[in-house]
Amino acid sequence: MTRFRIEVRGIVQGVGFRPFIHRLVRRYKLTGWVRNSPEGAELELEGEAAQLRSFLHALEVEAPPLALIESVDWRELAGTAEYAGFRIIGSERGEAMRTLVSPDVGICPDCLRELLDPSDRRYGYPFINCTNCGPRFTIIRSVPYDRAFTSMAEFPMCPDCAAEFADIENRRYHAQPDCCPACGPRTFFVDGGGRRLPGEGIEAARRLIKAGGILCVKGLGGMHLACLAENEEAVRELRRRKHRDEKPFAVMCRDLGCVRRLCEVSEAEERALTSFRKPIVLLDKRERGSMMQLSENNALGVMLPYTPLHVLLFGDDLDCLVMTSANLSDTPIVYKNAEALEKLRGVADGFLLHDREILTRCDDSLLRVYEGRDYPVRRSRGYVPYPVTIKGLRPGLLACGAEQKAGFCLSKEGHAFPSQHIGDLKNLETLDCYEEQLGHFAKLFDFEPAAVACDLHPDYLSTEVAERTARERGIPLLRVQHHHAHMVSCMADNGLEGECLGLVWDGTGYGPDGTTWGGELLAGGASGFRRLGTIRPMPLPGGDAATKEIWRTAEALRYEAGLENNDVTMKKLLERGLNCPKSSGMGRLFDGVCALAGIREVCSYEGQGAVLLEAAADAGERGEYELAFYDEGGVMVFDWRPMVRQIASGGEAPGTVAAKFMNTLVSAAAAQCRAAAEASGLRRTALSGGVFQNMYLMSRLPGRLRVEGLETFTHSRVSPNDEGVALGQLMILEAKYVSGGTAENS
Ligand code: ZN
Ligand code: ZN
Ligand code: FE
Repeated sequence: MTRFRIEVRGIVQGVGFRPFIHRLVRRYKLTGWVRNSPEGAELELEGEAAQLRSFLHALEVEAPPLALIESVDWRELAGTAEYAGFRIIGSERGEAMRTLVSPDVGICPDCLRELLDPSDRRYGYPFINCTNCGPRFTIIRSVPYDRAFTSMAEFPMCPDCAAEFADIENRRYHAQPDCCPACGPRTFFVDGGGRRLPGEGIEAARRLIKAGGILCVKGLGGMHLACLAENEEAVRELRRRKHRDEKPFAVMCRDLGCVRRLCEVSEAEERALTSFRKPIVLLDKRERGSMMQLSENNALGVMLPYTPLHVLLFGDDLDCLVMTSANLSDTPIVYKNAEALEKLRGVADGFLLHDREILTRCDDSLLRVYEGRDYPVRRSRGYVPYPVTIKGLRPGLLACGAEQKAGFCLSKEGHAFPSQHIGDLKNLETLDCYEEQLGHFAKLFDFEPAAVACDLHPDYLSTEVAERTARERGIPLLRVQHHHAHMVSCMADNGLEGECLGLVWDGTGYGPDGTTWGGELLAGGASGFRRLGTIRPMPLPGGDAATKEIWRTAEALRYEAGLENNDVTMKKLLERGLNCPKSSGMGRLFDGVCALAGIREVCSYEGQGAVLLEAAADAGERGEYELAFYDEGGVMVFDWRPMVRQIASGGEAPGTVAAKFMNTLVSAAAAQCRAAAEASGLRRTALSGGVFQNMYLMSRLPGRLRVEGLETFTHSRVSPNDEGVALGQLMILEAKYVSGGTAENS
């Protein structure tokens, strides 16, 4: 007899891990115990040496699909214990991590097979799930994760389901949302006039879609609006009703074959599409300029059916559906039946709903695959509430994030938990949703803030939430400069410690000097930063109005470059400096150049100028414009005025201007980073900020920096855009907050 002590690190709770251990223990005739630990799980096992080794092997290769095992350490213990059988025991240090719950999981291959098997008792049942798949985060009311505390509580299990639930050899052993047609939820259809039709309604929904109608369909984390993606008339009508003129729509394709018909799919992209997280993956269109009704750029957001209901909706004969979050003008996604029937009346022609309540909103996640890894744009369903593991991170920290792509982040020992996508906080409904989620997370994670961080911007609603939290609880508040947070977020994403350079390009962020920043080259780390580079600030005539009416920014660029203005009013505003706040936002420079190039004068959504420039760029164009810099108090400022004069002298096609402009930015960044590296001795460069969602830049800039001898780091766990800012704030709070003391501004 031999005895082993085994420590498993990683995410092994709420994913069917302990039942899995139980089965292995029986298979290898072992005795002992298992318990949860803050890092994962601990086991002590006794048995024959060969059996123990087989157990260790099986532990790594057969682990349940949702378990993320980071490491398995084991050592032999002296003597025998002669355990009486096998026990699952309570955790060592309280129940620190007992609250860890799984994200929602897309339908697994076994459930898909049963769903389509006429002899299976769940044949055609839209709520089939098992230990390896199904709803989780979105149906949990409170912890522990037990059916009684989920929205499945009102569906008592039938004897067949209960038997599977209790059978440790069964795939549905302890699967909390397990159900079947005899005991589980039901779908139903409500027509555009609010009349509920008899029956399960899936056929009625399919008929509506096929006739070119717009369907509201209930998903895992909210409602979608769906229509035939290739029916231009239907898509146009959906845009009209949703007041979404141009912003790209994501689609859901029945299978990979259908995705390949529309888009290029690499191996890594295929892995992302088919992973249990089932995100929307931004793929390059097979044919440039195709499917413009869906997306005006070169990419299309695509996902695969991730609930059994989606699979049944496609049936045998639908290929590709628009699947866009059901909401109106940037309010949070609609997720309750009654709310859908009320708010989406006149938007949807029919509603495919069901009687299992969604308790927490969670939008579809959106990502790119970049250099073989996830490059998140929106981290939400399928990811939340998984943590980002950060060794040694202390508990009790709360970071409130930014505003437009709001999201908070809280810490438990060794883990940072970013919230799901919440949306634009300018909207009161979104603020309610933000506070609701904050409360929900606090409850799920048994979280009490001991210190709180927020953006330096005094007017962000997230800042107000942080101020109120600090005041009410008497805890320290740290205000963090926006781009510093972006940079440190990217460092944490890559596990970087110490100091590095941070190239942070985004639309806007509050600078410590009271102006708006956004084209920054910083040096530093979690404990502080200095500004080494930026771009020449531009006046924005009319302030916020210029972010929509980008022709105003173009007029400002012309004015600053000493060129004639086309608009007399703008010229007067600029001359007098009236209502012309200054911004070094890279996003604003994109806006101005977009309008200068004659591509677009007025935008209908945030960041559209950059999107259109990227879409227009001629990929074969190698040329660039004149590079100029000047020094301002030790900050190397990129001077875009010579470039603007060259662009304005005209004659070049928009695709040429777009490409040469971005090539110039690559060279400007390379020159700034080279100089900063020489001055600081730092060679690691973190890239963050929403501008780096631009794939034209991402396919050129990191390579160029490497040529300069710099090591570049990009995001893979949180988004480079403002959604990722909360993680950076949290790390800066961790570095600056001394227990019991006060925090100073960053
Ligand atoms: Zn399953
Ligand atoms: Zn049942
Ligand atoms: Fe930002």
